[in-house]
Amino acid sequence: MAAMMLETLRNIVQEVNAAEGLNDALNIIVKRVRDAMGTEVCSVYMRDEHSGRLVFRATEGLNPEQIGEASLAPGQGLVGLVASREEPVNLEDAERHASFQLLEGLGEESFHAFLGVPIIHQRDVLGVLVIQQAKRRRFDESEEAFLVTMSAQLAGVIAHARVTGAVQEELHAGAGGPARVNGIPGAPGIAIGTAVVVSPVADLYAVPRKKAASRRQELRAFKVALAAVRSDIEAVSENLRGEMSPEDHALFDVYLGILDDSAIGGEVARLIKAGQWAQGALSEVMIRHIRHFERMEHSYLRERAVDVKDLGTRVLAYLQDEAKKELKTYPEQTILVGEELTASALGEVPRERLAGLISVRGSGNSHVAILARAMGVPTVMGAVDLPYTRLQDREVVIDGYNGIVHLNPLPEVRARFQELADQDQAVSRDLESLRDLPCETLDGHRLPLWVNTGLMADVTRSLEQGAEGVGLYRTEVPFLLRDRFPSEEEQRQIYREQLEAFAPRPVTMRTLDIGGDKALPYFPIAEDNPFLGWRGIRVTLDHPEIFLAQVRAMIKANAGLGNLRIMLPMISNIAELEEAMGLIHRGHREIVQEGTEVALPPIGVMVEVPSAVYQARALARRADFLSVGSNDLTQYLLAVDRNNSRVADLYHSFHPAVLQALCTVAEAGRAEGKPVSICGELAGDPLAAVLLLAMGYEVLSMNATALPRVKKTLRSITRTDALELLEEVMLLEHSAAVLQRLQRLMTERGLQQFIHAPPV
Ligand code: PEP
Ligand code: MG
Repeated sequence: MAAMMLETLRNIVQEVNAAEGLNDALNIIVKRVRDAMGTEVCSVYMRDEHSGRLVFRATEGLNPEQIGEASLAPGQGLVGLVASREEPVNLEDAERHASFQLLEGLGEESFHAFLGVPIIHQRDVLGVLVIQQAKRRRFDESEEAFLVTMSAQLAGVIAHARVTGAVQEELHAGAGGPARVNGIPGAPGIAIGTAVVVSPVADLYAVPRKKAASRRQELRAFKVALAAVRSDIEAVSENLRGEMSPEDHALFDVYLGILDDSAIGGEVARLIKAGQWAQGALSEVMIRHIRHFERMEHSYLRERAVDVKDLGTRVLAYLQDEAKKELKTYPEQTILVGEELTASALGEVPRERLAGLISVRGSGNSHVAILARAMGVPTVMGAVDLPYTRLQDREVVIDGYNGIVHLNPLPEVRARFQELADQDQAVSRDLESLRDLPCETLDGHRLPLWVNTGLMADVTRSLEQGAEGVGLYRTEVPFLLRDRFPSEEEQRQIYREQLEAFAPRPVTMRTLDIGGDKALPYFPIAEDNPFLGWRGIRVTLDHPEIFLAQVRAMIKANAGLGNLRIMLPMISNIAELEEAMGLIHRGHREIVQEGTEVALPPIGVMVEVPSAVYQARALARRADFLSVGSNDLTQYLLAVDRNNSRVADLYHSFHPAVLQALCTVAEAGRAEGKPVSICGELAGDPLAAVLLLAMGYEVLSMNATALPRVKKTLRSITRTDALELLEEVMLLEHSAAVLQRLQRLMTERGLQQFIHAPPV
């Protein structure tokens, strides 16, 4: 029984997931829930975003003519009660409840039993799901639990469908309402541009819809792909002829038949002739058929869904291969949109055409977001409700400060964003004049600003912004852009280029930090909880050959320059540091013995794991410097996955516990007479920079884009003020209070342009 319920639940959610817009989704829900629960009525009421009224939106069993007409004020009737209480109401006889109110024309007079559950997504009540029955009976506990589970699972799908609906309406009718999708700030800035959807390879559900440039060509491409798949399958079938009974072998004919002109193949061709491009047409038809098969009662027929999906995926793979051969052109203001954008997808668009990025998954601390910040490309991450496959070629507006995507913006909204983008440009021009000025407080305290780098492109940007050194060179970036580990000599050349570009300024090279969300394509690490797993120094200590080749390459590259510093990621105990230092010393000795004159570089430890905070003094005693990786430190202190959009609002950079840890590390460094810097994203936040100065950080290392703003901020305050502020802030117990206090300071100092609240 339980297994069947689970199966039903899974089937319904899957079906609703593939729905084309909100109405379709709601209709599937009411029909399938009513059947699954064996009741007479199932309806959905949706809360109108503007009026707050609960509108009767879909039904099986009540009067369908009232759909979109009947509605209840907030708190009105039993449905209103469910919404305002945010919990189920289960009644044997609805009329006897004080809140009962009959809605004229729905035809619910004869139904007595009532069970309503709220539909809640990200703490927001989206609507109410109701089942009713004529018989006076209380729905039992398992029924109530089933409906609650169903509603919780459907909430996300409904939220998604609501946005899809808004976009869809416009596609069909030529005029849809504006829609906004909330995500997470990825990289600051405003961008207005044209969406280019990057789809993962051979995923039928992620194909963008767009018009065919030439119907004849698309049709031909489809026919060629079909023929290729057909011949692949025929070859397999031929190979297996001797090993299967003739009856079993006949299955291949059935399989091939699915692709015939008279079947699915014909439907796809019709859609292409109507103007859809081949991949979009294929995806649409295939999804419809997969859904159809999945809904079948008979398990044998349900299994056919797998065959249809497999065939569709094969054809899609051929179509994508063919499309890849064409030279891709990007619009002038390209906004790259994808389910999970990667660093390599970023690299495909010429920089001057890349205006913005939207990733459905991930959060502001994902590495693609960090890269985007370094490149100065406005980015929204974790836009989970974005119907991204439908955005190809459409105009979108990105508010990277607040993590919001605007679709179909009203002209006045678009104009407001254009104005903001222009203002940003003016501020940047204004800040250019700071380039050659030192980062110095009003009372003459110097705080060097360094940069975080990875790509060669960062070097020019960094020098342009007046960077005084490199506080974090992420060596995994050049590793990511290859198809195998680079050799020692290849690495030496890459590192030499970095060191030379910045010499005599110091360059801090971090040893390979893979694992977590950074996987090398040629060295995959698949594990549960990757952020608590085989990451950073743990990987390289297990592979001393990789570690040694890397540090040897670094040390050799430093010959004749002397500006190298080596830094170790993810150190969580003293033994790891000692072991790594032992290997570095060994590598250095070998190089000297081989005849190269070069000094042992300073060796530093990243403090990014809570245990390292508590042992900061012991680490500082052994190392030459400490550098806080606040991105990971925040994630591990607060137990909030830096990559998970669902908990991104709990990732508080100004959490009092984080501030406390930062103070502890700074004090430990001071006590041992070792310099302490910070290279997490926090260092690039002008609000945080003031506190870090007061805590005694000696270097702030950040992405190049952030540097001028931090410099401007620090040049507008005194160290004495910062110390007073820190004392005040350390007494606060809420992250929000800390943030407010810091924002007040910015306003007082005329720096409100660095605080960005959503304009609409
Ligand atoms: C950090 O964790 O703060 C850091 C600087 O390293 P990364 O973001 O590369 O993990
Ligand atoms: Mg880190």
